[in-house]
Amino acid sequence: MKKLHKDLALQRIEILVKNALKTSKDPILLQKQAKLAKRISTKFRIRLPYEIRQLYCKKCKQFIIPGKTARVRVGRAKVKAIRITCLSCGHIYRKIIKRQSPK
Ligand SMILES: [Zn+2]
Repeated sequence: MKKLHKDLALQRIEILVKNALKTSKDPILLQKQAKLAKRISTKFRIRLPYEIRQLYCKKCKQFIIPGKTARVRVGRAKVKAIRITCLSCGHIYRKIIKRQSPK
């Protein structure tokens, strides 16, 4: 039974996050949806999937959208990496994009 609740909660979180990304023109609504999603995850003790987790700044917990509330720079080094700067607190993340190994 608890599992079912968690599944439903996760579904809601995913919908909220998707909506938030769609309504990114409205920053207030966006943060509201993002906060609600986070609150649900805390309440149900849900570990957010990686794709969703990376949308939250680790420092200020704000929802970050590449190109909107975050600046994304792609490195030109051999190892492909991107740098995401949270525009709320200035925190910088580095993400390495692993090249897929040839078959
Ligand atoms: Zn931040």
